[in-house]
Amino acid sequence: MPDILIRNADTLLTMDDQRREISGADILIRGGVIAAVGQGLVAVGAQVLNAGGCVVTPGLVNTHHHLYQTLTRAVPGGQDALLFGWLQTLYPIWARFGPDEMRSSALVGLAELALSGCTMSSDHLYLYPNGARLDDTIDAAQQIGLRFHPTRGAMSIGESDGGLPPDSLVEREADILTDCIRVIDRFHDASDGAMVRVGVAPCSPFSVSRELMRDAAILARDKGVMMHTHLAENDEDIAYSLEKFGCRPGQYAEDLGWTGDDVWHAHCVKLDAAEIDLFARSRTGVAHCPCSNCRLGSGIAPVRKMRDAGVRVGLGVDGSASNDAGNLVAEARQSMLLQRVANGADAMSAREALEIATRGGAAVLGRSDCGQIAVGKRADIAVWDVSGIESAGSWDPAALLLAGPTRVRDLFVEGRRIVAEGQIATIDLPRAIETQNRLARRLMS
Ligand SMILES: [Zn+2]
Repeated sequence: MPDILIRNADTLLTMDDQRREISGADILIRGGVIAAVGQGLVAVGAQVLNAGGCVVTPGLVNTHHHLYQTLTRAVPGGQDALLFGWLQTLYPIWARFGPDEMRSSALVGLAELALSGCTMSSDHLYLYPNGARLDDTIDAAQQIGLRFHPTRGAMSIGESDGGLPPDSLVEREADILTDCIRVIDRFHDASDGAMVRVGVAPCSPFSVSRELMRDAAILARDKGVMMHTHLAENDEDIAYSLEKFGCRPGQYAEDLGWTGDDVWHAHCVKLDAAEIDLFARSRTGVAHCPCSNCRLGSGIAPVRKMRDAGVRVGLGVDGSASNDAGNLVAEARQSMLLQRVANGADAMSAREALEIATRGGAAVLGRSDCGQIAVGKRADIAVWDVSGIESAGSWDPAALLLAGPTRVRDLFVEGRRIVAEGQIATIDLPRAIETQNRLARRLMS
């Protein structure tokens, strides 16, 4: 692969350790890595991409998603329900999924993320009906070329055992652990610059047993992979924990080994002061999903308090059945706005929200090699055209989340151009959308 020189960006938001912002900036990419950053770089033989009229940022990082749900957006029965009712509407539809549905929805969901500036995404796949496998989503990520952190999710307590999901969607706990080992051994890459890293991710405390939570943590640590689940999402979730386990979610997590810098929890809307302190002390990460929290009426996560306490926070779009979009830069704007609703106009700046969406998310996923534009980091880069209507009249186009585009012009992952001039360059997107709509129609019938 030849060197690439991104030249003359109006503003480069590096998100490096000094949070430098450079005008008229160039970035040299060599072998998938950032080789130089500065002004007036010379690179003989490099492919040159003119970034005049653009703001350049690190690629955004999505720390929580259920890609399969891009096939069940805006399902009428789930449009206005709280979490538990919403789940019970959708479970029977998801039970009809198979490998084709998993692959198609992952391809479309990842393409949507890429267009919104995302270079690295996690995914939480916790149901495996009709022969579906984690492999199906990894295949899609490799096709499109995004950096991917799939997590092998699971549900093991069905309705007949007092759980929420139908029995047809739950698996035997021994089978779950066996498949976790299979996908880690087959796909997990611990090296710098890895394109695939696998995590272990029981769905939530209300859909698996204490034993599986504990065993999953032991397995993940034995294998050196990260752990992920849903926690403290709304009031129903807290009530369930108090009634079934006799403690709050933070205590439950701590008792079963689910705190530490190799753990990140989705939502955490209802963490109290003691739980925020626990997460800060233990370096436990949080995937903040503001649109989903609004959509399901779950509440406003205490992100300001978490950040002030030193909790590591990243951003997630959550599944496309509870958002129902998968636009990560729009999600970052929503996170900024929600903290202002809760805490005032100075509670979160556009630049801080963008920091959470980039280096914040990379840190939550354990990726010190990503999330900033600095020499030696992986070349995951978003180029935003600020010469268009969304930025017209802006006095500070680098405040992207206040006035700026919601789609990238160009996107690089590991130095490879995934989006070129606003279009996905690696897959036939119209065809992928056509397949997706055909599968959705089949599920509706
Ligand atoms: Zn979720």
